[in-house]
Amino acid sequence: MAENSGINWTDNTFNPWIGCTKVSPACDFCYAETWDARFQGGTAARWGAKAARTRTSVKNWNKVRKWDRLAAASGRKTIVFCASLADVFDNHRSILPEWREDLWTLIRETPSLAWMLLTKRPQNIARYLPADWGAGYSNVALGISVENREEAARRIPVILGIPAASRFLSMEPLLEEVILPADALGEGKIDYLITGGESGALARKSEAAWFRSVRDQASDARISFLFKQWGEFGADGTRIGVDAAGNALDGRYWLDRLPLAA
Ligand code: SF4
Repeated sequence: MAENSGINWTDNTFNPWIGCTKVSPACDFCYAETWDARFQGGTAARWGAKAARTRTSVKNWNKVRKWDRLAAASGRKTIVFCASLADVFDNHRSILPEWREDLWTLIRETPSLAWMLLTKRPQNIARYLPADWGAGYSNVALGISVENREEAARRIPVILGIPAASRFLSMEPLLEEVILPADALGEGKIDYLITGGESGALARKSEAAWFRSVRDQASDARISFLFKQWGEFGADGTRIGVDAAGNALDGRYWLDRLPLAA
């Protein structure tokens, strides 16, 4: 069912709009900014506080409804990551209120999809939730990026304070060891951890011990865990490239799906 994504923790990726502004160390070598520059003549025209975001095409939006029909027919939830080329809770003024209203309508009307809304701006989530959010839409997991201890301390309390059917952490690129508060993990709290290293020419090195720590914290809390990739550096810290480094950790693959779609 993976029609539109090379990311191993989702089936498909949907971008309602494109563009963003860097907000934390994980953004330093933003893949999406590089992508934008490549397809916009060398300049990432939609990146930065002064740059307008652009809404994607009607055709792009409509394909999500096709995913939902296919998922309904198959009887298996399809995971949709929103968004890989933007931050869905970006508060930039060029993102019109009707874009968000249309996105919430789309999410509401695609119950066979399990939506993963990932942000580095959890402080903006509450103001942009729809009026009927209640305890959280049953088909939506809210997620935050946690690349280091500072962002863990800043973002985790915010996401825990927002009602949601599921919550997850994307700990990628992991820039140091992060010990998560034990009472933040579990059913009804954060129920899914994803981690991995960085790719690209300027990739920073993550240590194997940091990944093992995340895996063991997930195991101790009995929650789902996915190891996405080593990144450019292998287990011994040698730069061997993303493909050669792969995504096996201690001899096995850790590829739990989002609990909402398991
Ligand atoms: S929040 Fe995401 S899309 Fe936005 S600049 Fe940072 S890494 Fe890039």
